[in-house]
Amino acid sequence: MKFPIYLDNNSTTQVDPRVLEEMLPFFSERFGNSASKQHSFGWIAESAIDRARQRIASLLNANPEEIFFTSGATESNNLAILGIAQAYQSKGNHIVTSSIEHPSVLEPCKSLGDRGFKISYVRVDESGKVNLKDLKGLINSKTILVSIMASNNEIGTIQPVDEIAKICNAKNVLFHTDAVQSLGKVSLDAQKIQADLISISAHKIYGPKGIGALFIRKRKPSIQLKPIIHGGGHEKGLRSGTLNVPCVVGFGKVCEIALNEMENETSKIKLMQNRLFDFLLSGIEDVSLNGHEIDRLPGNLNFKFKDVNADLLLAEIKDVAFSSGSACSSAKAEPSHVLKAIGLAKNEIQNSIRLSIGRFNTEDEIEYVGKRFTETVKRIRDKIAID
Ligand SMILES: *Cc1c(COP(=O)(O)O)cnc(C)c1O
Repeated sequence: MKFPIYLDNNSTTQVDPRVLEEMLPFFSERFGNSASKQHSFGWIAESAIDRARQRIASLLNANPEEIFFTSGATESNNLAILGIAQAYQSKGNHIVTSSIEHPSVLEPCKSLGDRGFKISYVRVDESGKVNLKDLKGLINSKTILVSIMASNNEIGTIQPVDEIAKICNAKNVLFHTDAVQSLGKVSLDAQKIQADLISISAHKIYGPKGIGALFIRKRKPSIQLKPIIHGGGHEKGLRSGTLNVPCVVGFGKVCEIALNEMENETSKIKLMQNRLFDFLLSGIEDVSLNGHEIDRLPGNLNFKFKDVNADLLLAEIKDVAFSSGSACSSAKAEPSHVLKAIGLAKNEIQNSIRLSIGRFNTEDEIEYVGKRFTETVKRIRDKIAID
């Protein structure tokens, strides 16, 4: 076994060696600019981009023309929210989102709030599921966009995005979903989920950091978006800037692998997830799962341990890389807004950790981690009892 064991796959993942291999030539001999139309260097880069766009579209069951590259899902979320707000402000100034979104959705919404937009936050229950009745009630004649994530990065809860899309379509309101954590892990079919905009990223599924995309549905009347980055008019004028060809190629490969291997991999990861869950729940008293028990991302576990501070666990268990309730989604070490939104008390948030299993974890590692946590939690509690 190699230490530290990496169990923070919801934060980022190791680039799959097969992905890296496909990327490498685009740093060296195939270094062309995909926007150069006059020579073969450009043509080679352009055809690689086309192929990647095709592969990404295939995984989403979408049309390649519906895929727009960005620098990552943070930018995709900003483009979707700010771009729609700017284009539709004459129609209305109201946006509905949830309180458990990633900061890259919450913050652009907040900035729109400072500029005269009204933002409503749909309620979530204690498992993190959005209340559909509440959502219906929040949409009004001024609503231009609903943005609800497909699955949560901290607690793994999967939202009923198909039902949310139906509600939005029936009310003639655009629907955006941040599907970063769902891509390549659970079904994400743009024909089934009638979302208008879908944000995705490569680095959560064994691809490079700094590359993402926004799916924008082709429909009539066509969806209008105002760009947030202006320049040479790349990506049909929606996102200027020379494309990061190696990373786009890597993103394409990631999606091709996911399309072929997702089913097998999901069952393998679910086995390890269940194994670790059973291990901790049978070996440790007063531990419970945060988030939904069934509608949950494969590989995601988020636990709270009574009377055991997550920072203490992090300090004691240095040979396992995992994250605490205070640092799952942002660069700031603040108590998790997600755990707060599902009703956890401050001390329960401080006692929560996330373990996220991925492609490169092994059964042996899971066994080791199970033992390590069981022992450590017991030791910490015994010490508290003596003190
Ligand atoms: C990681 C993540 C993002 C941000 O993606 P980047 O590509 O790192 O900018 C957005 N939403 C969710 C749910 C994420 O997990």
